[in-house]
Amino acid sequence: MNKPESDSQESSSRLPECTPREAAVAVARLIIERGFIAYFAGGCVRDEILGLEPTDFDIATSAPPDEIVKIFRSARGVGEAFGVMLIRWKGRVIEVATFRSDGEYRDGRRPSDIRFASANEDAQRRDFTINGLFRHPLTGEVVDFVDGQKDLSNRILRAIGDPVARLREDRLRTLRAVRFAARFEMSIDSSTEKAICDASRDLSGVSRERIGGEFRRMFAHPTRLRSAQLIERWGLDAPALAESNSIGACKRIAGLPSEVSFATVLAAWHLDRAERAPNHSPGRWQDSLNLSGNESKEMMEILEIVSTLDSKWETLPKSGRKRLASRSAFPSALKVLYGVVPERVSEVGKTVAHLAAETGGLNPQPLVSGSDLIALGFEPGPRFKVLLDRIYDLQLEGELNSKDQALAFGHREWAR
Ligand code: ATP
Ligand code: MG
Repeated sequence: MNKPESDSQESSSRLPECTPREAAVAVARLIIERGFIAYFAGGCVRDEILGLEPTDFDIATSAPPDEIVKIFRSARGVGEAFGVMLIRWKGRVIEVATFRSDGEYRDGRRPSDIRFASANEDAQRRDFTINGLFRHPLTGEVVDFVDGQKDLSNRILRAIGDPVARLREDRLRTLRAVRFAARFEMSIDSSTEKAICDASRDLSGVSRERIGGEFRRMFAHPTRLRSAQLIERWGLDAPALAESNSIGACKRIAGLPSEVSFATVLAAWHLDRAERAPNHSPGRWQDSLNLSGNESKEMMEILEIVSTLDSKWETLPKSGRKRLASRSAFPSALKVLYGVVPERVSEVGKTVAHLAAETGGLNPQPLVSGSDLIALGFEPGPRFKVLLDRIYDLQLEGELNSKDQALAFGHREWAR
């Protein structure tokens, strides 16, 4: 009997020594050499045909998990019930899944049972035709049971089989449809589109973690404007965000540069939507999109800065402007405003550049610290903090320029 591949090739926690594709080819070759079928499957095939570099290569195989374990010592089951194994190869991890057919879906997310099946059946259980393709890893031949190549070249997103049934099985597929249609600039087959609209309300039954994950992925991509538009057009916004449906222009999202944080996109989208439905509260998005504490904090901070820029920037003293401009979310707030008031953004940008060019920049080291004041015998308390802030403001204004000056001012104020 053949021995499993040696650990020397598979040891964990090492730097990758090959590309993800090379690792996937090597793993597939070993499976094929044992007499099984092994194909690249799903997203990686789609991406390569579109001329894009796949992020990860998944392998679908006729080999059952107990055979995979015999071939690869490093094989670890992840969804063992689903026949999914992870294999380490030269510092890469490749997912290998046995061809399967999904049983009935009872919870709108996972099939209640699966059985190992043929390649054709495995293709049929996938969501969209563009995601149902296989490719022979050694010959490059595309194996297409679902007419996916035709849809790929015509840029049409189409559910495999009956769209109504497929979307009912896993309701997250409505959001996946948005992501693929936007990301690959595809039109949508009309019966698939109708099924999405009809199923949109069911999205509220999907876990917030999965919904948030889809949003994170679609908004990471420069085609995020199309995603936001499709979400609103198909009525997926209400269940996803747990707020009323609202359709309209997304000018702030449209004005974003291609690389921005998730929180920035959310802030832009919230403001676009708030123009149409002012009662929407962004705080609820933390739960509905399962945002991390940091994402939520960043989004709220951007919104607060945008609001200050909108209502008070002109009347702020120099110190207030410097304080605002040195907040970490300030550049993101300007990006959010760019889509609606580009001239204003460039004006503010110029003012900030001037302020930044002053001695010490936007946030110079304070001339006087709390411990300086304590050393002089000042008692910490509410007045203390106010005084420190006042001294720093005057420093930002350019009115206090040395430590001696600042301490003298502190003494005078404290004595009053
Ligand atoms: P991405 O570029 O986001 O990785 P992908 O198509 O590779 O896109 P994955 O989530 O990595 O998406 O899934 C890999 C493959 O598994 C898909 O191409 C599809 O064939 C199948 N698949 C994934 N999620 C689902 C689902 N919810 N329903 C049906 N098939 C799915
Ligand atoms: Mg993938």
